[in-house]
Amino acid sequence: MVAMLAVGCSQLSNPASNEENSKNQLIVIGRRCYERGLFWGTGGDISVRLPGSKQFLIKASMTCLGDMDESKITTVNPDGLALHGPKPSHETLIHARLYGMRPEVGAILHMHSPYATAWASVGKKIPAITQQSVTLFRDMGIVPYHPVGSKELVEAVVACYQNPNTQVVLMENHGVFVLGEDLYSLLYNAEKAENTAHIAYLARDLGEPKEFDAKVVY
Ligand SMILES: [Zn+2]
Repeated sequence: MVAMLAVGCSQLSNPASNEENSKNQLIVIGRRCYERGLFWGTGGDISVRLPGSKQFLIKASMTCLGDMDESKITTVNPDGLALHGPKPSHETLIHARLYGMRPEVGAILHMHSPYATAWASVGKKIPAITQQSVTLFRDMGIVPYHPVGSKELVEAVVACYQNPNTQVVLMENHGVFVLGEDLYSLLYNAEKAENTAHIAYLARDLGEPKEFDAKVVY
């Protein structure tokens, strides 16, 4: 048993093993995001910071999260440049900048989920009408439309995340950025954001939804 534990510990500190584990987790969470309807077609992207490293893994450009495997993941340096793997996602530089400025963030996604993107497309922040969204939606950002991959889009999204409370940023006529401490918290945050966007859409047909005080601390 002692020998097995020793092997396990050495594997955990091995960079190659860490990268392999992170790739496997990215594939699992990516597929779950796709199955939950958070991603459609080849749109959007997801990344994870490599443990003990300034590098991160990100979905390759023009690939579908529902069909993820290791050949569709790119290893990227802190400047957003690909180290190995296929061409990375169009928005890789945004991921790189966010990892550099938010050390508590371990995983990031950008999705085109229908309800959250609908709010973004009418230029309105998603109202924090559910308890699960109060902290997540605190100081939500929203940026005007800029073309995919443009410097203007990078700077606009990064500027929103200068606020350390901000977890969610809407991009008008485009989609949403969400942060997480790790891949699982990222998945749950993305689900909460889309779920509350859906509930808010439905609630407005019934009456005027009551928004929580975003300053409430749980
Ligand atoms: Zn997009």
